[in-house]
Amino acid sequence: MIKLSNIYKKYPNGHEALRHVSMHIKKGEMVFLTGHSGAGKSTLLKLIMLLESATRGQISVAGKELENLPKRKIPYLRRNIGVIFQDPYLMPERTIYENVALPLTVRGARYQDVDRNVRAALDLVGLLGKEQRYPQALSGGEQQRVSIARAIVNRPPLLLADEPTGNLDPELSADIMHLFEKLNQTGTTMLIASHDLSLLATMQHRMLTLKQGELVHDS
Ligand code: ADP
Repeated sequence: MIKLSNIYKKYPNGHEALRHVSMHIKKGEMVFLTGHSGAGKSTLLKLIMLLESATRGQISVAGKELENLPKRKIPYLRRNIGVIFQDPYLMPERTIYENVALPLTVRGARYQDVDRNVRAALDLVGLLGKEQRYPQALSGGEQQRVSIARAIVNRPPLLLADEPTGNLDPELSADIMHLFEKLNQTGTTMLIASHDLSLLATMQHRMLTLKQGELVHDS
């Protein structure tokens, strides 16, 4: 599903954020990406999301080489990738339903398809029944669940999360991780960046560790 071969990323200011990184994540895997602050976790996710490009090396996502991908094909590839960040980035003036529907409505999907998929996504994250509320009426954990529903509403085969529990207390963080396990069990490949080692230690999944831009551990 994701293959990185000898990746280097140097930012325009000369900072080398990733060095000599190779990895292979198979379809259906759930993998944690960890490492100290500044280790390169976000940079690695941004390369896979096509928000940044590598300085050297090859990346393929869902069988497509990103290097040779024509610009017009990028939106199609992105549809296959759900993304979740530390901040849920919900639109405050829109209901939960409208926030989750957004990836479908911007594509002009049919009302029936939007409605079916939004309800299925809200059901999966345990928020069916709250769809007419506004984000500020929800707790932090619930808001993050809305952002997860929005990320999966397209049913992407790949989900990337960058410090998704960074703003949550330990109990809510564990709930979110269990929700990710549930999504993984439905076949979604997951790559989750987190520096919360105590949380990750409670779960049995492959862990990739970055240190100063290098992959130092894979277990
Ligand atoms: P992490 O997610 O592990 O905290 P990042 O990928 O955000 O690490 O950052 C890795 C390194 O690259 C850090 O030293 C950071 O300061 C640097 N960096 C990140 N983004 C940029 C950027 N746009 N320009 C320059 N340096 C950056």
